[in-house]
Amino acid sequence: MLPRRVPIPPSFFDEDTEAPFEECLVCEQSLRDGTTDYVIEKGFRSFADYDVEETVFGYALCMSCHATLSESFSDTSKQRCQAYLSEHIDLRSRTALLLDEDAVDPAEWTQKCVVHDTPKEELEEYQILAHCHGDDLLLTHLPLLIGGPAIDALVQRLSNETLDELGGFRDEYFGLPPELQRNVQGPVLA
Ligand SMILES: [Zn+2]
Repeated sequence: MLPRRVPIPPSFFDEDTEAPFEECLVCEQSLRDGTTDYVIEKGFRSFADYDVEETVFGYALCMSCHATLSESFSDTSKQRCQAYLSEHIDLRSRTALLLDEDAVDPAEWTQKCVVHDTPKEELEEYQILAHCHGDDLLLTHLPLLIGGPAIDALVQRLSNETLDELGGFRDEYFGLPPELQRNVQGPVLA
C-alpha cells in the first residue's frame, strides 16, 4: 500500500528560503524533481520566558546519503535505539492511523513528543522529522516530533563510535557551538 501524501507543511521548510528544501545536504542532488525520496530533520529551541522559538538546524538528506550515514552507525547503537523506541512507541498503531483517511490532521503528528507525549509548547528543545518525495510529505511512521528528554535518552544509547560518526557529520555540515551540538543527531530515528 502506498503511503498517503500531503503537501510539505511550512514547519518543514528551509529556514533560509521559507520554501521546501531544494537539495541534499551532502550530495547536493535536487530533491524537488521527484527522482528520490528524502528525509528532513529540523531542530528547535524555545525560550518560554520570551515566547520565542528559534530553529537550531534544518536539513534534507536524500535516501542514498541517509543510508550511508545510517550504515556508519554501530550495530550496538542501532539495536539500543530501536529497543528504546519500540518500548516507548507503538509504531504499528501510529502507522495505521497515518494510513487512515479519516485520521486527524497530519499536522497533529508533530504537536507532541512521540515518546513522552509532552506537548511541543512545554519542550525547551525538540526535533521534527519527515519523509518526503518531491513536494509531498509521505505519511509513514513519520512525521514525528521528539523532545529534548527523549533525544537525551537516545544519545545515551549510542556507542562512542557512533557518537564520533555523528560528531564528524555535525562538524562537517553545521559547525554549531558546543552547547547546541547535541541537537544534531543525524538519522537516528528515521
Ligand atoms: Zn544526497
